[in-house]
Amino acid sequence: MEPLFCPNPSCSHHNDSHDQYRGYWKSIGSYDTLVVGPVPRFCCNACGKTYSERTFSIHYYTKRIIDLNEIHRGLTQGECISAIARHLACSFESVQNRIDRLGRASIAAHARILEGFTAGEHMVADGFESFDRSQYHPCHHNILVGKNSQFLYGTTHATLRRKGRMTVSQRSLRSHLEQLWKPPRGALSASFRRLMGVLLSCWDQEAMEGLQLWTDEHPVYPQVIASLPSLRAAMAEGRFEHRTYPSQAPRGLLNPLFSVNYYDRELRKDLAAFHRESSCFTRNVANGLMRTRLYQIYHNYQKRYRIRPFWLPFTHAEAAGVPPFKIREGTKGFYTDRPFLSKLHLNDEETMVWMKAHRTPLKDKKDYVPKYALVS
Ligand SMILES: [Zn+2]
Repeated sequence: MEPLFCPNPSCSHHNDSHDQYRGYWKSIGSYDTLVVGPVPRFCCNACGKTYSERTFSIHYYTKRIIDLNEIHRGLTQGECISAIARHLACSFESVQNRIDRLGRASIAAHARILEGFTAGEHMVADGFESFDRSQYHPCHHNILVGKNSQFLYGTTHATLRRKGRMTVSQRSLRSHLEQLWKPPRGALSASFRRLMGVLLSCWDQEAMEGLQLWTDEHPVYPQVIASLPSLRAAMAEGRFEHRTYPSQAPRGLLNPLFSVNYYDRELRKDLAAFHRESSCFTRNVANGLMRTRLYQIYHNYQKRYRIRPFWLPFTHAEAAGVPPFKIREGTKGFYTDRPFLSKLHLNDEETMVWMKAHRTPLKDKKDYVPKYALVS
């Protein structure tokens, strides 16, 4: 293998194509590893940084090669991490480590595919309800889905305060826990605002006038929309419409919120952490969000849009109008190549998930982010 570019983000050859970088690097032998045998080493003539073939691999720094396709398959088919670890005869931590790697690869692939893409359909948004760590810390996974395609454009997350009916002892436990950790105020508004950022980034306001955003009747949504100047202006000029529909209505195909109801059902069924009344649930928010990113790749770019009839678009992404060559290019090297943060244009939520910035309730320490995920 020849290096495609210099892995040093501050080098002038970091964004080179393979052809441009030719002649700016030299071979400097190899080193032996127990994992993959001899690994060729290189040196960049421009910045003097030395690196190896493994620097460009998704397996960078690992001491054992684990089948990433199998982890992705198991995770998106309802298997919990312990089951995957047992199946692959490795530790729980090793599986989580590979999920982090695939999670970042998922963020990178989705961001690359959506770069420059504009949506040609109405949108539906919703808050998928679950909990983080315990039922005392409910959360919303806000999702933005294409109304016709069921393509998942983006997702954001907020941990909320437990509300609703509680017994006296539950209420006192909640106040005890709140002395130790409180969810940030306005988390749901902030989460929905980030989701509206995703909507704005893939909406070409001139090409698609009269965009409709469908949601249920949650009071936070109109407040957030009114607080965003660009959406407020588009609404006043009749180029954007926020339509609501009761969440209690039957969840059939004719329901205008069908797309989010469908994605909610799939998440509940396919990700072990969202199975109801089971021993699987999200114990660490940042790790849980990596799993939802893996699911996004499976749902958008791998799973069939409809099984029949056969002439319908193959994937949800194609149903949304994403050109197949963009899907091919964006997902190229998904299971093999290391994504470089310095080469990506991520939105706020994607950056937060990449950096594991979402905090777990009652956990003081920030989640660990390895150096290779930060820079090169
Ligand atoms: Zn260099």
